[in-house]
Amino acid sequence: MAICVSVRSATVKEAAAAVSVAQEKGADLVEVRFDLMSSPPTDLAPLKTAPLPKMATLRSKAHGGEWEGKDEDRLRLYRRAARAGFSLIDLEIDSPLLGFRDRDLKKVEVVVSHHDHEGTPPTSRIIEIMLLAGARGDLAKGAFKVNTVSELHRLVHASKLLSLTGKKFVLLGMGPLGPITRLRYRRLGSSMTYASLEPGKETAQGQVDIASLKRMENGIITGITGMPLGHSFSPSMHRAAFEAMGIAGTYLPFPAQREELPLLMELMRDLDIAGLNVTIPHKETVMEHLDRLDGNAEDVGAVNVIVNQKGRLIGKNTDVSALAQAFKAAGVDVRGKRSLIVGAGGAARACAAFLRRDGANIVVANRTRSRAEEVARRFSGEAVGLDDVKGMDFDVVVNCTPLGMKGFPSQLPIDPEVFHPGQVAMDVIYNPERTPFLTEAEARGCKIIPGREMLIYQAMDAFEAWTGQRPPYEILAEAVRKEQE
Ligand code: NAP
Repeated sequence: MAICVSVRSATVKEAAAAVSVAQEKGADLVEVRFDLMSSPPTDLAPLKTAPLPKMATLRSKAHGGEWEGKDEDRLRLYRRAARAGFSLIDLEIDSPLLGFRDRDLKKVEVVVSHHDHEGTPPTSRIIEIMLLAGARGDLAKGAFKVNTVSELHRLVHASKLLSLTGKKFVLLGMGPLGPITRLRYRRLGSSMTYASLEPGKETAQGQVDIASLKRMENGIITGITGMPLGHSFSPSMHRAAFEAMGIAGTYLPFPAQREELPLLMELMRDLDIAGLNVTIPHKETVMEHLDRLDGNAEDVGAVNVIVNQKGRLIGKNTDVSALAQAFKAAGVDVRGKRSLIVGAGGAARACAAFLRRDGANIVVANRTRSRAEEVARRFSGEAVGLDDVKGMDFDVVVNCTPLGMKGFPSQLPIDPEVFHPGQVAMDVIYNPERTPFLTEAEARGCKIIPGREMLIYQAMDAFEAWTGQRPPYEILAEAVRKEQE
């Protein structure tokens, strides 16, 4: 198992300097991308004494590189590289130079590579390509752009089958879902992975820099699934927590269609993904693919967090515990309080689960009356019409609709006459921080709890479930503040 730093530099001299840095950073070998130099060099002497094994690559345009020259010129450069102590050369699977071995080239091993910059074909096709590449040289390398969870699954499945052959191979992903195939290259059975010397010096899409790769060798992978993923605050919060706590971990997006959920669950086990956040529209549909649900997820009928416990996937709902913590932090005890929930979706059900557990009396009002009745039935509450609440008295009012959220109508979800001094008003919306609902409630004398609180506590609970360590509130709050700016 080896890490090969792929060197992008303008000149041979710069490349030689980069090899020394790569060695300091723990690389096992380097790939010098001659096609990315300002012009193909004639003098490779500065690289002769470079302190790591070296691979020469002159990637053609057709395979995603910059080389457009003739095969004779390529041959000339590779001979020069062999004489300068390079032990490996890269040739594409369709190169006419494959099989050509003169005195110089006899000394080097040939990596036979295939690149697909469009997508990842079916597993059977990947196997076909890799077997052919293996037969044409010393080491087969396949690099495929991974656009979707289905494509990632194809690649991982192919790696399992290739491992059975006992032959060495290099299989990796490029593009949006590429990074995880590099972070988990050992699990994929790949004998090597490619890394950049530092962020910004990548030679392929999806490449990870060597420092991050080394740090993540036994690191924790977490992430989020949904469709579309849009702009979530979760990556900022969890990445900030990993960094501040000095935990080797990362948070990646896994956009998935509904039918891809079983594949994603398999990938969680195969790639040792410690946990995922689940967002719209999979919070309910994901449940059937899990091994167990915790009490809150059962209660709410929705999962916002999956925890991978040694291959057993547990569905949790940290929105419920987050609401409890947000109210507690605000010094509000809901026991025996008459509480109005506005809305009847996932957030409303999480709110009802919390309020019932903590002994509040629940009233639900929603645009679609039948949905309010459903929630009321499930959580032993009472359903009323949105217009009925004006004359009613509540100790607690919680907005669980998206009204007032960025991108939604900036209107109140409920008649403001409902608000009165001494009441507690919470809005689960966290973007913007101050919604029309909160502004109006505060102006009418209510104690307010912003949705940011729930957001932070649900993330703290998720992070703790994934890593075993509780992140500091302030770190996540700061990440949210930056997002809200
Ligand atoms: P959901 O399942 O889609 O439910 C949305 C609810 O809002 C439904 O009851 C819907 O009524 C109602 N609604 C939607 N548009 C409306 C409109 N124009 N007028 C009146 N009512 C309307 O959504 P959700 O998952 O519960 O999320 C609701 C909000 O909570 C979102 O803004 C979300 O960002 C936020 N949230 C925050 C946190 C946090 O950590 N702070 C966690 C989860 C959710 P119908 O039944 O009539 O369609």
